[in-house]
Amino acid sequence: MTVLRSGSATDTGLVRTSNQDSLLVSASLFAVADGMGGHAGGEIAADIAVRALESAFMRHPSGMGLADAVNTANRAVWKASEERPELRGMGTTLTAVALVNEQGRDILALVNVGDSRTYRFHDGELVQITADHSVAEEMVRAGEITPAEAAVHPRRHILTRALGVADGVEVDLWRIHPSRGDRYLLCSDGLTNELGNGQIAEVLASVPDPQQAADLLVRAARTHGGADNITVVVVDVVLGDEERTAAEPAAGPIAEDFVISSRGASPARAVEPLAVPEARLPSRRERRRERRRERRRTRSRRLVTVRTFVFTLLLCAVLAGAYQAVRWFDTSSFFVGLNGNELVIYEGRIGGFLWYQPAEAERTGVTTADVPAEFLPSLRSGVEESSIDAARTYVHNLEVEQALRTAPAAPPTGGLPPAPITTTTTKAGG
Ligand code: MG
Repeated sequence: MTVLRSGSATDTGLVRTSNQDSLLVSASLFAVADGMGGHAGGEIAADIAVRALESAFMRHPSGMGLADAVNTANRAVWKASEERPELRGMGTTLTAVALVNEQGRDILALVNVGDSRTYRFHDGELVQITADHSVAEEMVRAGEITPAEAAVHPRRHILTRALGVADGVEVDLWRIHPSRGDRYLLCSDGLTNELGNGQIAEVLASVPDPQQAADLLVRAARTHGGADNITVVVVDVVLGDEERTAAEPAAGPIAEDFVISSRGASPARAVEPLAVPEARLPSRRERRRERRRERRRTRSRRLVTVRTFVFTLLLCAVLAGAYQAVRWFDTSSFFVGLNGNELVIYEGRIGGFLWYQPAEAERTGVTTADVPAEFLPSLRSGVEESSIDAARTYVHNLEVEQALRTAPAAPPTGGLPPAPITTTTTKAGG
């Protein structure tokens, strides 16, 4: 038995004023729709489409039932736009995945109309299953331009198929074996316009919880520009695969069966005739080439990241070293100066150094009257000392000198004259 686990997120983005995307998450049906049309048209079209899809699918939960449900959704949007002139011209993309049981086997049915996408993430590899119905992508499939040219083609956003623009629509349908550990990503173009396959795959590979993965993908798309509405549904196959028989390749072609159903009248807009199914999926060779290109892109991104990281680390180390050196140079010096009439010991360099200003380290209580007058000019400029103890000794010696000079002359005793002041003082600044 197959069990699915899902997470979803949607966001208006940073440029649009309303969210015209819509999503659907239920136990067995998951869908993303990206509405288009002025004012509220797009929002209404996407909303009608997912609701009509759900109710129609629940009545016939099978692969063809899902494709029929897309047609029902198409008619619902078309009818609403016919009935309300202000909504005329509205339409929507729609991609959906459903778990169905056919002939006793669990199958994932997948449908698509427009340029919202469904990817499968399998064994670390992200593969786009749906084919965009846009002018540029049709030109790629016709071999007229390369995928790189399509990515910047001026008509890349013009759809060749959409829901609600006519009373009938062609639907692409795939049937896929659910395989345990596989992850399906349904998204609007607001995600894929901002993030490359490598970036999306990195998130899907590193975030096991589907809700957290969906949240992170939407946040990443916002960070990369958020130019459009962003909608993501992540569906994990957590149990399943029991029905696979030895005859069915585990990693073979994704689409076991491919059906194009065309219902009702022809679409109003010209639609390129569809290529054969194989042409809709990239060939093995193309997939290999794309993988190689993606690996090269990822490698160069990693290199840039590692180089940037190492450079930032070195720069931080140099700045921290310079800061510590300046700090040491400043805080390892003292000088004696005047604050008013009092001699004060300062920590720091005379006049300051860079952003460090001298700070009072100790008030001595000794005044200018307590020291010889000829030392006052030096004290006003500041007298550097090698340590706070040396500064204290200097102040003490000045005091003693002054005391000796002002003491009454003692009667001659034949003793030794007073010792001269010895100090390590060096005068600075003046
Ligand atoms: Mg969009």
